[in-house]
Amino acid sequence: MVFRKKEKVQIKSPEQIELMRIAGRVVGRTLQALEQAVVPGITTAQLDQIARDCIYGSGATPSFLGYYGFPAVICTSINHEVVHGIPGNAIVEEGDLISIDCGAIVDGWHGDAAISVIAGNADSSIHTLSTVTRESLYAGIAAARAGNTMGDIGAAVESVIRSSGPYGIVEDYVGHGIGTEMHMYPPVPNYGAAGSGMELKVGMVLAIEPMVTMGSAEVQVLEDEWTVVTTDSSWASHWEHTVAITENGPEILTLPQ
Ligand code: MG
Ligand code: MG
Repeated sequence: MVFRKKEKVQIKSPEQIELMRIAGRVVGRTLQALEQAVVPGITTAQLDQIARDCIYGSGATPSFLGYYGFPAVICTSINHEVVHGIPGNAIVEEGDLISIDCGAIVDGWHGDAAISVIAGNADSSIHTLSTVTRESLYAGIAAARAGNTMGDIGAAVESVIRSSGPYGIVEDYVGHGIGTEMHMYPPVPNYGAAGSGMELKVGMVLAIEPMVTMGSAEVQVLEDEWTVVTTDSSWASHWEHTVAITENGPEILTLPQ
């Protein structure tokens, strides 16, 4: 994703955040359905169909379908795939870690979130990877307060990951502003120095999305021009929420209810 320089941050009114809450809830409910659907033997195309039914059935439109030509409603990234995997014939197997990324549009406003799900029984290290990634997301969310800075979010995310083990923090892909487009200014890195970067203000809405690996943070894009994998084939987890900065602190917009 390319950010143009000197772009302004889109500040949302409370009424606009309410519209984003509606889009976010569709994403939250879709991911909840997908989490329950992940079992060994299901294909990623079947998961995509569930998301399709859920999003259109809610009167929403998928954000991803057709985005720069992306051919599906969700991204499904298994094991060493980090993000942007394309649903298809791949079969989810016992012990797999699948990251599912989903976006939906309601009345022109976007929601964007991702979860990591483990199919059946897996090694405890895989559970820990996903837990650390999710906890780093929640630490970042807690730092998304007016008066704090972008670096406070990155530092909070990074601190949880660094203190949990020798994990890799992917730097080539980061979170982003979100609103009338899915990917908007500003970038939201998963690393940084507390107190650095732009000041956070009420009305900003950010997608915070740590991507954590069990090895190197180095990634590459496969020949399908979408799927991002770790270069050392270490497994990766991805968790994301769309978060509004309100007078009362951070509010997660992409919960099921
Ligand atoms: Mg996403
Ligand atoms: Mg995102």
